[in-house]
Amino acid sequence: MRLVVASGNRGKIREIQALLDPHGVRVLPQSAFAVPSAEETAPTFVENALLKARNAARHTGLPALADDSGLEVDALAGAPGVYSARYAGPEADDRRNNAKLLEALEGFSGEERRARFRCVLVLVRHPYDPSPLIAEGTWEGVIATEPRGEGGFGYDPLFLLPERGVTAAELTPEEKNRLSHRGQALRRLLALWPRAWSSPAD
Ligand code: IMP
Repeated sequence: MRLVVASGNRGKIREIQALLDPHGVRVLPQSAFAVPSAEETAPTFVENALLKARNAARHTGLPALADDSGLEVDALAGAPGVYSARYAGPEADDRRNNAKLLEALEGFSGEERRARFRCVLVLVRHPYDPSPLIAEGTWEGVIATEPRGEGGFGYDPLFLLPERGVTAAELTPEEKNRLSHRGQALRRLLALWPRAWSSPAD
């Protein structure tokens, strides 16, 4: 089966590919079809994921999977949340986002630095699919005081797992997928999967 992933984020695509590979699903990035990015205008992960999935399905004619995800920091009332990718501004990159986060948390310590990653996955079989599959996962941690590790992407070097004493960027890709918000959401989505492909719309 072929599936387009409605994302331009290479880190996300790599993780989703690794998770779906064993299930015989061939994951194609939307860049392979020159899909124009959808405007992420909604205030929730689920609405943004739906916008992205429908946009990719419309431009490719393929079933589409979208991931909308972000980091919620308790001391910042859930920010950066749905704005995680552009926390430091429209031209933000991972380095600037992480620097801004460290600055925002200056003066907070220990449990005050609690945070979680949240991932919502939406799968549509076609652009007007009336019953998209939706699954969510969360991953709890605390924000470290300095970046550590070379793996992953985004806020991984600052996302500390207190029970292991390592950041998400210090995990192997396999360990991260086993524990992460994205891994959890994808396993939940897979549990719903057969219903999607046995419907008369296929
Ligand atoms: P989206 O493309 O609007 O869903 O943005 C997601 C943003 O959240 C990414 O650009 C990262 O900054 C952050 N993010 C989501 N998942 C992860 C992860 O697994 N590790 C690190 N950062 C993540």
